[in-house]
Amino acid sequence: MVILDRLPTKDRMQRLGIITNDLCMFCSEATENRNHLFTECPKSASIWKSILQLSGLNRQFSDWTNLLEWATSTWKGKSLLSCILKMSWNAFNYTIWEERNRRIFKGICRAEADIIKTIKEMFAAIFG
Ligand SMILES: [Zn+2]
Repeated sequence: MVILDRLPTKDRMQRLGIITNDLCMFCSEATENRNHLFTECPKSASIWKSILQLSGLNRQFSDWTNLLEWATSTWKGKSLLSCILKMSWNAFNYTIWEERNRRIFKGICRAEADIIKTIKEMFAAIFG
């Protein structure tokens, strides 16, 4: 859903006339769309950077295209690192979307450290 850009992000909901406020629930500074929410938002970019650091990688991405180009060129084969990165990205996307929905529908905000902890716990459940 994330890769295909089919999530009901706020930019899409606003175009349909369902909502009037299309600001990102993390930074409140830009329109929420797929590219912003998962790569360009400073808050989610910081979380993704922390997740990559757990795998020993120190990388930042300027935008969605930049991240996808890196992923398609390096996450090949069945190496352990490749599998961990694919799983990390899925866990990250899932958790960011879940957190965004929590903020919109429940009015609950987790701190960045708690969001990272949630993603780490997904791995603990798999490898534990
Ligand atoms: Zn944002």
